[in-house]
Amino acid sequence: MRDLARLPKAHLHLHFTGSLSVGSLGDLARERGIRVPATLLDGDPLRVPATQRGWFRFQRLYDAARACVRSEADMRRIVDEAAAADAAEGSVRLELQVDPTSYAPFVGGITPAVEIVLDAAKAASAAHGLEVAVVVAASRIRHPMDARTLARLAARYAGEGPGEVVGFGLSNDERSGRTDTFARAFRIARDAGLAAVPHGGELLGPDHVSVLLDELQPDRLGHGVRSAEDPAVLADIVGRGIALEVCPASNVGLGVYPDLAAVPLRALVEAGAEVALGADDPLLFGSRLVDQYEAARSVHGFSDAELAGLARSSIRASRASVGSKATMLAGVDSWLAAPA
Ligand SMILES: [Zn+2]
Repeated sequence: MRDLARLPKAHLHLHFTGSLSVGSLGDLARERGIRVPATLLDGDPLRVPATQRGWFRFQRLYDAARACVRSEADMRRIVDEAAAADAAEGSVRLELQVDPTSYAPFVGGITPAVEIVLDAAKAASAAHGLEVAVVVAASRIRHPMDARTLARLAARYAGEGPGEVVGFGLSNDERSGRTDTFARAFRIARDAGLAAVPHGGELLGPDHVSVLLDELQPDRLGHGVRSAEDPAVLADIVGRGIALEVCPASNVGLGVYPDLAAVPLRALVEAGAEVALGADDPLLFGSRLVDQYEAARSVHGFSDAELAGLARSSIRASRASVGSKATMLAGVDSWLAAPA
């Protein structure tokens, strides 16, 4: 068996504060004198019976963690540590997702908040030897006008390389808000050349995936796993060439599936979907990028050739330049060609 930490891969679904390690969150909380729920620092905060998992518990803990991030230095630390952790796991391309809104009050507004993240992403790319680009995400629980403001801001920094904005997302509780009211924000983002990467098909099923496809015209779906429940919807995703950012540990942590074996990873791949494995929020789900590939191997029986296929999918679904993708894909071939 080949070392999965040496398999070149792109990480397309990782949230800003959620990327923190438990130790670093503890540091930030201590420095600020902020009390955070003990479960956040004990590790495995969502390791509770399946019936007690779920979105609201997750959101409460995420908000508590986010409240510890209160300065430019904190924000730079998060990006640098996320990049270092990713690089150590064979990630050659990280597209880090951030909603700048909650950090804006501490750094003078959403524009400086985005610029700090982009500058830190550029510096971290050079320091750790991977490409770190950024996805700006709006929140479903805010007014669609806020989403349009963020889309216009994201458009100003559009690009494909390190320290540039490559996508526009829509996060938070999938059941909140009306998807069609965010269509204009996504049009602004798409017109600027950004990838449309909303969350969906995790807390809600294939019916909502169809709405997302029609209203937001995504290039990738954050999760999208529950499209496996309707072959027609899954075929539609494959036909439109929409990639799925599948985060198995997150699905289990939120109680969408009872265990890793129930995540329909193989069904999605066999249907022809382009699947990019992601960690979502290591802080809360207790596992990072390479753990998702380990799960594909140990739980779903993926061979090394199939794991290389997942890595290729992640690279193809990224917004890296044509030249970067060619180099990254050649790295995957080398990994597979080397003796096990
Ligand atoms: Zn997510």
